[in-house]
Amino acid sequence: MTHRTSITLSLAKQWLRFGIKFGYPDCCIKYFLEVELVDRYDPKLNMFLGSGYIPCNACKDVAMDEQEDRINKRRDLGLEPFKRPSESLRLRMLSHVRLRKNLKKQRS
Ligand SMILES: [Zn+2]
Repeated sequence: MTHRTSITLSLAKQWLRFGIKFGYPDCCIKYFLEVELVDRYDPKLNMFLGSGYIPCNACKDVAMDEQEDRINKRRDLGLEPFKRPSESLRLRMLSHVRLRKNLKKQRS
């Protein structure tokens, strides 16, 4: 195993732990771990941009209220209830994402 791989693996384990603690659905945690970083933030996929939660392809079309409920039912009791990000936070995150995507394009 290369050094790089072991770093990636332990990071994935951390994300997995966070995902469970935060109450995110298993399918979305799996999706989060599989999808490349910049692609996780596709604004069309993610109405929750800025919250840390990225719905998977199956969950993205579920009503936002229902997604919030689902997450809060599984969420660690010590945490604040999950809620969608404010629109201004979402828009700020979107401009971040565009910047990153452009950087990625320039590099390839
Ligand atoms: Zn899902």
